[in-house]
Amino acid sequence: MTHLPDALLTIDGALRPATGGKTYDVIGPWTGAPVGQAADAGAADVDAAIAAARRAFDTTDWSTNVAKRVELVTKLRELFEDNRARLGELAQVEAGAALGAVSRAHVDMALAGWDDYLKVFPGIAWEKDYGGREGYGFVSQRKAVYEAVGVVAAITPWNVPLYVNVGKVVAALLAGCTVILKPAPNTPGMGAIFGELAIEAGFPAGVLQVVFGSDPALAGEMLVHDPRVDLISFTGSTGVGKRIMEQGAATLKRVFLELGGKSAKIVLDDAPNFAMEVASTMLVFHAGQGCAVQSRLLVPRSRYEEAKAILKHSYASFGDNWGVFENPAHIMGPVISKRQQDRVMSYIELGQAEGATLLAGGKTRPDKTPAGGAEGFFIEPTCFVDVTNTMRIAQEEIFGPVLVVIPFEDDDDAVRIANESEYGLSGGVSSGDLDRAMAVAKRIRSGSISVNGGMCIAGDLPFGGYKASGVGREWGLEGIEEFLETKLIAWRT
Ligand code: NAD
Repeated sequence: MTHLPDALLTIDGALRPATGGKTYDVIGPWTGAPVGQAADAGAADVDAAIAAARRAFDTTDWSTNVAKRVELVTKLRELFEDNRARLGELAQVEAGAALGAVSRAHVDMALAGWDDYLKVFPGIAWEKDYGGREGYGFVSQRKAVYEAVGVVAAITPWNVPLYVNVGKVVAALLAGCTVILKPAPNTPGMGAIFGELAIEAGFPAGVLQVVFGSDPALAGEMLVHDPRVDLISFTGSTGVGKRIMEQGAATLKRVFLELGGKSAKIVLDDAPNFAMEVASTMLVFHAGQGCAVQSRLLVPRSRYEEAKAILKHSYASFGDNWGVFENPAHIMGPVISKRQQDRVMSYIELGQAEGATLLAGGKTRPDKTPAGGAEGFFIEPTCFVDVTNTMRIAQEEIFGPVLVVIPFEDDDDAVRIANESEYGLSGGVSSGDLDRAMAVAKRIRSGSISVNGGMCIAGDLPFGGYKASGVGREWGLEGIEEFLETKLIAWRT
């Protein structure tokens, strides 16, 4: 297994170890053994990062010099291109992506999203004229100007680290903010590379900081509490998101949240290729560790037995074609950590206790660990049938390779089941009748929805959640606008 280069912090224009030289081991999901070492940032490091970002925002022309920002963000994008191989290696070794998934959701989508940001950026309106208005015996001319919100803390998860880091950091930088990126403890390298390449690109000191450490909460909580930070952009679990919103209230922080999901795919009875629609919902890509994955499959009760047979066959055909580190065709590897493995396995036990039927999978697979490793965090592709929507396996986000299959009576019932969820991130509808599918899609309370396989997630489209799936939108023009404030100026004429 590759040993990754040491992950260093970036603070005030310099790559550096943590104060006192503290480090921690980065545990590889494939082997359960260390694959690298990362600086273990403490309070002094986080404080220095905040101070640098504040100073750079308040005392440099970063927030007003649009041309300079575009030039540097474009230069940084080129450096990421030059480092594609390193990014792929990080996604695989650190985040546990299988080789066949590395390029897609991990590297290609992230870099394509970056290009989308650069393409849509000229569409940002920096001013809006509200015209003149008479009142109090005189005329006021009015306009709004849009300005960078200030210092942004971007707190990100481990599942698709490059994609989420780009989604926040690039948008905030383009908007004119200075940024502190705080990646998850499991994926420091994918954060560290951002700082390293920003220095190489010639970013002014203080514009981009990267801090991480072994304690998942320390740096994040400091960023949330500190009055020098203006906005928290967070992607992660709903529990931590709620805590951030509560704690951010003390300093009335602007808080932007991308949280969990339990998205439903509804295959209607007239779906033209019913078997393909059902089979393609197998939750295997990146071991199901995606916030917007369709983890509840809803099929008509009249075709439930047929759907079961299709899935039984699909899982059997998928077989053991996953979890081999070197295999470029594999799209599923391990889950990120022992903790996550235990969590997913506890849901698999729970599903059985709740009375659902295990149609496929359900076991850990330590035998998949590459030679020389300790014990990798592998879980078989797993599918539960005979699931009712009130079961906890249907309501709670498992974040692993576990699909649940629920029957519905008619379109109204399918909509009801899809919406009877705390979450509302994404989803899908398939039907031979586009009007019928669109009517169902419009009734689903979620931030995005795919009809007949349409791609509803791309870098030029706003992405985000309803309900407990989040607040605000990332990507696209809206994703950049999240980092702007509105200032209204009126002058007497
Ligand atoms: P997590 O919530 O445990 O951690 C996310 C980040 O928050 C990490 O950087 C972590 O160190 C930090 N953190 C932890 N405790 C904190 C605290 N008290 N204050 C501030 N920061 C804190 O999530 P995770 O386990 O890293 O990622 C998995 C979760 O992320 C899943 O729930 C998944 O749905 C969600 N996710 C959502 C999206 C989306 O766009 N909606 C995308 C990817 C992942």
